[in-house]
Amino acid sequence: APVAIEHDGEDIAERLGVRLTSPSRVVFPGQGITKADLVAYYEAVAEVMLPHIKDRPLSLVRCPQGRAKACFFQKHDTGGFPEQLKSTTITEKDGSKEDYFYLDDLAGIIAGTQMNTLEWHIWGSRRESVEKPDRLVFDIDPDEGLDFGSVIKAAEDIGERLRALKLKSYPMVSGGKGVHVIVPIRPEVEWPDAKAFCKDFAQCLAEDEPGRFTANLSKAKRKGRLFIDYLRNERGSTAISPWSARSRQGAPVAVPIAWDELSDLPAANTFSLQSAAARAKNENPWPDYFKTRQSLKGKSVSR
Ligand code: ATP
Ligand code: MN
Ligand code: MN
Repeated sequence: APVAIEHDGEDIAERLGVRLTSPSRVVFPGQGITKADLVAYYEAVAEVMLPHIKDRPLSLVRCPQGRAKACFFQKHDTGGFPEQLKSTTITEKDGSKEDYFYLDDLAGIIAGTQMNTLEWHIWGSRRESVEKPDRLVFDIDPDEGLDFGSVIKAAEDIGERLRALKLKSYPMVSGGKGVHVIVPIRPEVEWPDAKAFCKDFAQCLAEDEPGRFTANLSKAKRKGRLFIDYLRNERGSTAISPWSARSRQGAPVAVPIAWDELSDLPAANTFSLQSAAARAKNENPWPDYFKTRQSLKGKSVSR
């Protein structure tokens, strides 16, 4: 296979005006992946990643001492970042104002990487219409011990049920344990309606097949089942961005998958930075994702 990550991260950052401190600091000790390597990875996938991540409020998983040490989840821009990672003020439901990160180019991703961001989490809505999601996500969370085959089957069944509601969906391996089934929609309904739809959908699955699925967050109720996490579809909730690295064992990546490829995959964490970058260059798993025009307006889950 051709080498997909071929450039020097330090040069890339410099060219984009982001000063990379400690470019050779190892951020994934298991793989010897440095901060500069991560920059080179994001340059390799930028063209396919940016359309998914840009212009959305973001939360970051930051690991200042690398993946093996303490990491934290950062929702708000509290300052101190290079200017290429931008800030947007959102008025909360209670009228208070909060600053969130967003970006619209590769320099923004590199600025976050400079600040030791190992994971990029996205809102389901964009800055220009923050109250109306343009993507839904069904996050399939398997109980301990369930094999990946059961996750694949669940994703396929969810895709099938969505199709029956005339909704196209797109699977993604999370880089962790599960699969996310993503539904791009026109930003036409507000968060409470979107969440109600997703909750109905998940509860319907769980009612129809209680041995396989639960829509209940409680780990105790998960026993041997798949939790259909519809709670990603709340205002302010986030999900991992397509093509983001994960701060997990093995330095895996969250990667878009075509429906007909899904059954061949061994695990949700099967893509490395190298194999994800090669895929970004050579394959197009979601060719019609950004051409899909569909609405949640008037849709409901029949019971
Ligand atoms: P897996 O396939 O292993 O479940 P995942 O990305 O679906 O991977 P998690 O990493 O467990 O699942 O994260 C669940 C969601 O909760 C993420 O999408 C993330 O946006 C959000 N999240 C993660 N950590 C925090 C946190 N500390 N505070 C608030 N939200 C978080
Ligand atoms: Mn999950
Ligand atoms: Mn979850």
